[in-house]
Amino acid sequence: MSHLEKSDPDIYNAIKNEIERQNFKLELIASENFVSVAVLEAMGQVMTNKYAEGYPAKRYYGGCEFVDVAEELARERAKTLFKAEHANVQPHSGSQANMAAYFSLIHFGDKVMGMDLSHGGHLTHGSPVNFSGRFFDMVFYGVTKAGYIDMTQVEDIARREKPKLIITGASAYAREIDFAAFRQIADKVGAKLLADIAHPAGLIAAGLVKSPLPFCHLVTTTTHKTLRGPRGGMVLIGADSENDMGIKTPKGRLKKYSELVDSNVFPGFQGGPLMHVIAAKAVSFNEALQPDFIVYQKQVIRNAQALADSLMKRGYHVVSGGTDTHLMLVDLRTHDLTGKVAEQALENAGITVNKNMVPFDDQSPFVTSGIRLGTPALTTRGMKEGEMEIIATLIDNVLRNSSSETTQKKVYGQVKELCARFPLYE
Ligand SMILES: *Cc1c(COP(=O)(O)O)cnc(C)c1O
Repeated sequence: MSHLEKSDPDIYNAIKNEIERQNFKLELIASENFVSVAVLEAMGQVMTNKYAEGYPAKRYYGGCEFVDVAEELARERAKTLFKAEHANVQPHSGSQANMAAYFSLIHFGDKVMGMDLSHGGHLTHGSPVNFSGRFFDMVFYGVTKAGYIDMTQVEDIARREKPKLIITGASAYAREIDFAAFRQIADKVGAKLLADIAHPAGLIAAGLVKSPLPFCHLVTTTTHKTLRGPRGGMVLIGADSENDMGIKTPKGRLKKYSELVDSNVFPGFQGGPLMHVIAAKAVSFNEALQPDFIVYQKQVIRNAQALADSLMKRGYHVVSGGTDTHLMLVDLRTHDLTGKVAEQALENAGITVNKNMVPFDDQSPFVTSGIRLGTPALTTRGMKEGEMEIIATLIDNVLRNSSSETTQKKVYGQVKELCARFPLYE
């Protein structure tokens, strides 16, 4: 970065410090990961200069022959990876993908059923502070006391409220979702079904978690969480959905789901696509198609299960008693701690987590009663079950002495030593 160092030392230094932070802190935020240097290279290049509104071979601008190669590869690789009939790789983020997906399936003001944010759902699944909660008439389902999605409640609310759209998928839910059961309920009440796999996308691509594509009208995802690509979003369509009748437009014409999605992404909600990011998506999808990606994702789950087990052994309450995926939610009410206090104490000790609402939380979203932990990033560094055991000890040590600066300092020293054994970006 020698040019940047000269032209803008402030930003150069911020980036250097961020590299140092990523290298020497333990990244346990479940929605984060570390991309390869190849993905970084694909993102930091001249395709950022190119306007390419439209889609490959159907652009509004000239000079698109090389960015077309990138987008075509990204689309084809995404389709192979997820066994999809169609992929739109242009959404700038998961939120943009959801916005385009909603308006491909329903209209402004329609009733939508999503998962309660405090039970693991996402802001874009109907929170009143998000476009989804402002544009649609939302109703919510949640989890049982045991921490599993309450399918009886899902069906009851669906029958009573008759939503036009049901959203399945979550940001803080550790268990596999029964997409087939969701589809049965959606069909019974005449609702469309959207799965948002932003979190488990990598596990699904690796075949370790069941795919929603055969059961959903549309599937949205991010590309930067377990999937380990650049920051971005995507909409996927399975063969059954693409080959069915599609949806009637106000003019009475039947449109395929792919047509609806493509026109809602552009020109519906976005302008020019980020072609450098789309190139990086293609690179990350190719990485995900390699056999060692499955090995990686298996280790992600093993690590999450090892970490959950180690924490439970030390008396922590892991919601639903464990995990099937890459993440877990720890309810700290048993330890008289809030998520806010725990997050800060751990941060001081070099362990990065996020505070998170837990089911039936009595604290506000700014305080919360829990923390969410995930293993995708640490697993990318090469850490395994043995390291998870050590990390559980470090977390326990900090949380048991949450006001002790001496403990935080000591643990931070141990964190740095551990990180040094698993080099990241050199
Ligand atoms: C992360 C996430 C999103 C949003 O992704 P952004 O890229 O941050 O907009 C959407 N849905 C779910 C379930 C998520 O976990």
